Amino acid sequence: MSKYWSGLVRNIEPYVPGEQPKDKTYIKLNTNENPYPPSPKVLEAMKQAANENIRLYPTPTCDELRSCIAQYYGLTNKEQVFMGNGSDELLAFVFLAFFNPGSPILFPDITYSFYPVYASLFHIDYRPVPLDGNFSIPIKEFFKKNGGIIFPNPNAPTGKYITLGSIEDILKQNTNQVVVVDEAYIDFGGESAVKLINNYPNLLVVQTLSKSRSLAGLRVGFAMGHEDLIEGINRVKNSINSYTLDRVALAGAMASFADEEYFQNTRRKVIATREKTIFRLLEIGFTVIPSQANFIFISHPLTSAGDIYQQLREKGILVRYFNKPRIDNFLRVSIGSDEEMEYFLKALAEIIDAVCP
Ligand SMILES: *Cc1c(COP(=O)(O)O)cnc(C)c1O
Repeated sequence: MSKYWSGLVRNIEPYVPGEQPKDKTYIKLNTNENPYPPSPKVLEAMKQAANENIRLYPTPTCDELRSCIAQYYGLTNKEQVFMGNGSDELLAFVFLAFFNPGSPILFPDITYSFYPVYASLFHIDYRPVPLDGNFSIPIKEFFKKNGGIIFPNPNAPTGKYITLGSIEDILKQNTNQVVVVDEAYIDFGGESAVKLINNYPNLLVVQTLSKSRSLAGLRVGFAMGHEDLIEGINRVKNSINSYTLDRVALAGAMASFADEEYFQNTRRKVIATREKTIFRLLEIGFTVIPSQANFIFISHPLTSAGDIYQQLREKGILVRYFNKPRIDNFLRVSIGSDEEMEYFLKALAEIIDAVCP
């Protein structure tokens, strides 16, 4: 606390990202990073872009990249695409662009913990919608009066996916406010709501290159929706940071969308490893929430998640433990490479054996 802090800073409770410790080398299964490197073509494009032109500002409108993404997703034109410096920044703009103080927004009680942080920062009231006993989103709760809706699909940290049919039901019941679908993990098995954009002017789909395209360190996220929604986000962006993407990021992102084969291969590898891992976890008595993401949410009936977290850490493996009501006996485990998951499963079996031989 400092006497120089503004009232705003005194009162906020910032988001806490998963740890990135430097004391030793860990197997990192705690921040949903991709275990595989980005396409070699992406790295090459970025090296090419790191040239003397870096003295010039990048294009503030990211036109080429927006056209590329519009085409990739079968949209009508680039005016339906917004580029952000990571989707976290973009989500901040979204809260400012579409939600109003005094008009409570809805999101699940168990969800991405950035949403309540932005809500408090921007004085947006919210009502958490409790997930049911299986961690499913009770769709009908989103039919109640609200000032806007946001949820990840698949949800985080549960990995649970809802169908496009359910999303359409939510859109039809909320034609007077924006419904934001955060698709950070959609490439790991779900169907994107992007195909609904031309029918629902209240739909905003948010995606990122951080997870499925192995570019968390580059900071590229994007939103797709009706032109009027995109214009709204642009008005906020141009009041805060006109140059969201740097030249190197623009080049890397373009190259990523150009290398479809590499993208398909890596995402399939992650999905295959996830399925193998789930099978093995069920064998040693774990409860595993069905996941369409690059992480799984697991719990063991006889050993506390906090203990498992601590023991894994001692064995050099990091997973994510949320000490919060309803989920304090679960661990969120990112899907690593086959070798990493093998090591994780072996360590886990030792921990469980010690408790219930
Ligand atoms: C990882 C994540 C993001 C943020 O990704 P960026 O790296 O900021 O693009 C957004 N939403 C959810 C649900 C996430 O898990």
